[in-house]
Amino acid sequence: MSILITGGAGYIGSHCCVSFLESGLDVVVFDNFSNSNPESLKRVEQITGRSLKIEQGDIRDQSTLETVMKRHACEGVIHFAGLKAVGESSQDPLAYYDNNVIGTHRLLSAMDATGVRKLIFSSSATVYGEPKSLPLTEEHSLNPVNPYGRTKLFVEDMLRDLAASNSEWRVGILRYFNPVGAHSSGLIGEDPLGVPNNLMPFIAQVATGRRERLNVFGDDYPTRDGTGVRDYIHVVDLVEGHLQAYEKLAKLPSSSNSFSVNLGTGNGYSVLEMVKAFERGSNQPVPYEVVERRSGDVAECYADTQKAEELLAWTADRNLGDMCSDTWHWVRKNPLGYAAESDSND
Ligand code: NAD
Ligand code: UDP
Repeated sequence: MSILITGGAGYIGSHCCVSFLESGLDVVVFDNFSNSNPESLKRVEQITGRSLKIEQGDIRDQSTLETVMKRHACEGVIHFAGLKAVGESSQDPLAYYDNNVIGTHRLLSAMDATGVRKLIFSSSATVYGEPKSLPLTEEHSLNPVNPYGRTKLFVEDMLRDLAASNSEWRVGILRYFNPVGAHSSGLIGEDPLGVPNNLMPFIAQVATGRRERLNVFGDDYPTRDGTGVRDYIHVVDLVEGHLQAYEKLAKLPSSSNSFSVNLGTGNGYSVLEMVKAFERGSNQPVPYEVVERRSGDVAECYADTQKAEELLAWTADRNLGDMCSDTWHWVRKNPLGYAAESDSND
């Protein structure tokens, strides 16, 4: 029996493959490589000394998914595949509803048709919208403020409806805070195409000299230094949470066959604290300039982690220093990401 990991070649998916392979599970990756490079999967095999199966395909293609799930006798799915850029989702919402909502609908239909009814879904803290109280508990109202966040909420609702309709389903919804960092080997990490949207990869590219300076989006928020505060979580801790969540699915009673859990550390760091931490971790200067606020940003966002601790027996172990030094190790070894490697193999 294998686990199907959709989007397994991507940033979080590739780290999840390592974690699952290392725990002895067999993995099949299903990815269309629209935002990833198959090189990441070679590196996963290098790290773990185990092989995985790769199926190139699109989650919107239900019949291929059914064939793949039968071929590999899949017992469950970890579902990462989707589009994730908040700004782009406002410019091209149809692409987001197509990939994220219709894509997940097709995946669930394929799972139902083949009797594979165990799923872990990548949701996001963005489903909460503007925090009304902090830390954010899972009971906080769900009110996303952009199309990306709404696709995540629609999928969450679809999953809750599905779980309620048939007690054979086992569904875990994981709401990520801000995943950063890389595997300690420096072999896999975040490899954004073009200009990074997110803070950590941008800082890393400034530290390597690939970009001149960081734009800090606003320093007049009601936070300790005026810059935005987020709950950054090491990607390896995050994927370990997936392993715990997947194991929990098998133990859920049919009367309570789904859960939604935050994956964060519970600590908030400001943009300027991140800059300083990265300077310490890399021993490189990170020049920055304060510019206008970015529209849609909230001042502060961090997780209440109690439910994850109680339900999944999971907490994040790695600290901010680990997040920065592991990111630095990855970008130093791979200043151009995976592209350099795949070019040299052509
Ligand atoms: P990523 O872009 O690195 O990985 C996504 C993977 O899915 C890529 O390999 C891409 O090629 C693949 N993919 C996209 N559309 C597909 C489709 N239609 N069919 C098949 N494969 C497809 O992103 P990531 O950072 O690893 O994020 C993984 C998941 O976690 C996403 O669902 C994202 O929304 C969610 N998430 C990410 C963050 C974050 O900050 N990285 C935060 C919260 C939630
Ligand atoms: N940020 C910034 N400059 C950048 C990218 C992000 O100042 O180039 C800030 C952003 O305003 C927010 C924090 O860094 O306060 C985290 O942003 P990111 O896009 O990484 O995550 P998200 O907004 O999804 O929490």
